[in-house]
Amino acid sequence: MNQQVIYHKEVSTLGHYDVVVLGGGPSGICAAVEAARNGAKTLLVEENGMLGGMATSALVGPFMTNYDREGNRPLVGGLYREIIECLAERSAAILPEYTDSPSIHTSFIGRYHRHVTPVDAFMLQIVLDEFAEQAGVEVLLYTRFVDCLCENGKISSVILAALEGLRSVSADLFIDCTGKADVAFAAGVPTWKGDEENGIPQPGTLMFEVDNAVDEEFTARPKQPVKVYRTPSKGCYRVNHHRVFDADAADSRSMSNAHRAARKQVLESYRVLLEETPGFENARISQVASVLGVRESRHIKGKYTLTVQDISQGVSFEDRVALFGYGMDVHPRTKEMSGNFKVEVAEVYSIPYRSMLPENCDNLLVAGKTISAESQAAGAFRVMPCAMALGQAAGAAAAIAVKGGFAPDKVPTEELHCILRAHGAILD
Ligand SMILES: Cc1cc2nc3c(=O)[nH]c(=O)nc-3n(C[C@H](O)[C@H](O)[C@H](O)COP(=O)(O)OP(=O)(O)OC[C@H]3O[C@@H](n4cnc5c(N)ncnc54)[C@H](O)[C@@H]3O)c2cc1C
Repeated sequence: MNQQVIYHKEVSTLGHYDVVVLGGGPSGICAAVEAARNGAKTLLVEENGMLGGMATSALVGPFMTNYDREGNRPLVGGLYREIIECLAERSAAILPEYTDSPSIHTSFIGRYHRHVTPVDAFMLQIVLDEFAEQAGVEVLLYTRFVDCLCENGKISSVILAALEGLRSVSADLFIDCTGKADVAFAAGVPTWKGDEENGIPQPGTLMFEVDNAVDEEFTARPKQPVKVYRTPSKGCYRVNHHRVFDADAADSRSMSNAHRAARKQVLESYRVLLEETPGFENARISQVASVLGVRESRHIKGKYTLTVQDISQGVSFEDRVALFGYGMDVHPRTKEMSGNFKVEVAEVYSIPYRSMLPENCDNLLVAGKTISAESQAAGAFRVMPCAMALGQAAGAAAAIAVKGGFAPDKVPTEELHCILRAHGAILD
């Protein structure tokens, strides 16, 4: 049945902001905090009851390496560093300089995994609340972006499903950090899902945590593809095991089926741990993620599309806003495929600002895993430290654009670099 209904409704407005950030995951929190610290009146909208996105609601961790390919020098500083230092002070993170691979913190995976940052998911929620509050960001949890109103190539207002009903919010500038490019898609920006050839996304995984494992007895990489990463707490591990294929994060039916299938997989993963993984014979499930982990959804078409070649050759873009060195971690997209890291990355590669500027919309920035990039290229920078660096860059750019009264594509690179460097970002 392909029937349509027309729905008209007047909705009340929640006000006007300089910057509205949609999505409070690793990129969204950094975008909002950076925009607010630079003087923008900022609203952060998140559909779940917590900030942190995949890092909290989907129990994804550790924060992947923020070092170059060989693990010799850090490439992401800024807000990422501030947040993990704040967690480490409370014994809720192990700083990357104190971890190495292969080890219990990397499930004994060697390549690309030197200097990961294990974090406690609940303390991360607390710390992110504090960062938002201290920066003066207004946070709306339990509020979902559903649509936007556009005029003359710009978004004038977004429509939010608040708990009290539909509401609108206007802003000078919007930042899409939904991890699905929901805002860009609704604004008419060209997007595509998954890989360019057949639209298949990387698989999803329902993550969970176990405690009561014996660290000393866990001494080798477990049977593939079980991966277990020690958290900052003794005997406590994040489990990243089964995969659900073809889960479309922007489709309710697809996600309902995928999440239910993934729930059953958790029991199977737990059995493998108990019966086949030394050190986990008495492990207990302490928590299961409330949200299915989604590695890939939409990609936007932006002013520049980052390519696999750019990443493997280590192109240093003049308008770079982040450096990174993690490998192209593309999980098999179907049951029949195998292997993750197929193309070698450069020691250091960079992400250009233009990849965050969408086509067809003059007051929108996009940050995080959905920026304009080939699917396989995104497989490299999609992880959390880089998402945070991109979010911080988007927040700084948004504040400059609002202050100057111009569109984000007119932000001077020197000014953006100057602010980012002053705030701890690593660009050289
Ligand atoms: C199973 C799995 C394992 C992974 N392993 C690692 C790892 O070990 N280390 C690592 O660093 N990275 C890992 N990653 C990758 C990493 O988690 C993500 O790529 C990263 O979180 C991307 O950040 P983001 O801000 O772009 O998006 P997300 O983390 O997806 O955040 C998006 C946020 O937007 C919110 N949102 C979405 N739609 C709307 C809407 N319409 N309205 C309001 N809010 C909305 C969501 O609730 C969420 O909070 C893994 C990912 C998965 C799925």
